[in-house]
Amino acid sequence: MKWNWNNKRRYGNDNFNYLLLAIALVFAFSRNSWLVTLGLTAYAMYRALSTDITRRQQEAYMVNSFLAKWIRKLKIAIDRIRYRNKVVFTCPNCGQKLSVPKGKGTVRVTCKRCGKMFDGRT
Ligand SMILES: [Zn+2]
Repeated sequence: MKWNWNNKRRYGNDNFNYLLLAIALVFAFSRNSWLVTLGLTAYAMYRALSTDITRRQQEAYMVNSFLAKWIRKLKIAIDRIRYRNKVVFTCPNCGQKLSVPKGKGTVRVTCKRCGKMFDGRT
């Protein structure tokens, strides 16, 4: 039997499909969730075999922008934790960002990139 059961172009896999399959794999290892694994795998297969390429690309675009938004928020939250006891200065010479511990009064900061020294309050 040949696989060219019709000549229409199929969408194939994209990042959204790999994400669906990755989530399905996670659920495959937990108990009583075979239906979730089956559903996600079926949906990924449906998308890969779909001939409505424009529609699938729109879905992928929506998922990518949704994830990008949350990844950005997550990065900001991580930075907030990382720099909570620090003051960030920007080098007036080269624009390099330099972090200094808070509560040290006026300090002389030396840029680690260009060597420029400047004073800053922490
Ligand atoms: Zn500099």
